[in-house]
Amino acid sequence: MSNLDRAPVPSVCGGRGFVVAEPVRELLSPRHVQLGESTEVRRLLPNLGRRMIGAWAFVDHYGPDDIADEPGMQVPPHPHIGLQTVSWLHQGEVLHRDSTGSLQTIRPRELGLMTSGRAISHSEESPRPHARYLHGAQLWVALPDSHRHTDPRFEHHPDLPTVTAPGLRATVILGSLDGATSPGTTFTPIVGADLTLAQGTDLRLPLEPDFEYGVLAMSGEVRVDGVPVLPGSMLYLGCGRLELPLRAESDASIMLLGGEPFEEELIMWWNFIARSQDEIVQAREDWEKGARFGEVTGYDGAPLSAPEMPPTPLKPRGRAR
Ligand code: MN
Repeated sequence: MSNLDRAPVPSVCGGRGFVVAEPVRELLSPRHVQLGESTEVRRLLPNLGRRMIGAWAFVDHYGPDDIADEPGMQVPPHPHIGLQTVSWLHQGEVLHRDSTGSLQTIRPRELGLMTSGRAISHSEESPRPHARYLHGAQLWVALPDSHRHTDPRFEHHPDLPTVTAPGLRATVILGSLDGATSPGTTFTPIVGADLTLAQGTDLRLPLEPDFEYGVLAMSGEVRVDGVPVLPGSMLYLGCGRLELPLRAESDASIMLLGGEPFEEELIMWWNFIARSQDEIVQAREDWEKGARFGEVTGYDGAPLSAPEMPPTPLKPRGRAR
């Protein structure tokens, strides 16, 4: 998916200054963002109080939406640099096309992982015909400086490893959880997992104390370290945890997002993650003149045009806070 905001605000993120070294319980409220004509998403990252969790730099939750009589998701071709996108569905399907020639339908609990590297463009749409309900999350992972100019590629992993315990089924999306490792390519120490919990389940999930973590609630009623987290909200958990208490008050599902704190400072604007204003300006210009980002074939509609750059220059944040 894309940031379709027509007046996006640049955001500076990354760096140790924002990381909370000890366990905390910080509830993040979503910002409601209209995505095209038919889809409203709840944006959890970047958030006023929190920019990143490990290398996770962008989190949108959407649905469940009844799209039986609607076009559903319709995101025209648009560019990315410096990141990976993770498409994750609980209901419905998304048809992905990109400038490396990919054409892939992504279904619930299958991983669609796109590494933009130096430049890629893609589109996402609800296929026709499509399932009645659409429910999922769209996430971005920032690439470290050492790999952000890598070749663009797309991976589809329909069979992901799972971890099970009484009342729990966890699907490992990226990285490792409790000894199970996703086949998805990663560039920093990171984890993403989808947890389905049966009503009444009360357990402690093993964590890495060096990672920072957050939990996005997808459905049902769940208490994360004692805090009720409603669907479409996220709880930031900080670092320094060996385990995470989870209690399902009803059948519920959550996404666990974590990783080593991301040390490098980043500038995010529109669909780009870069290190300087010049890089953002160049990427925007290249997209507007049809250079560098290749071509998405088969999408029924015009590509997105980039919004105007804000009049004030983007300033990297100082290291001290
Ligand atoms: Mn996108």
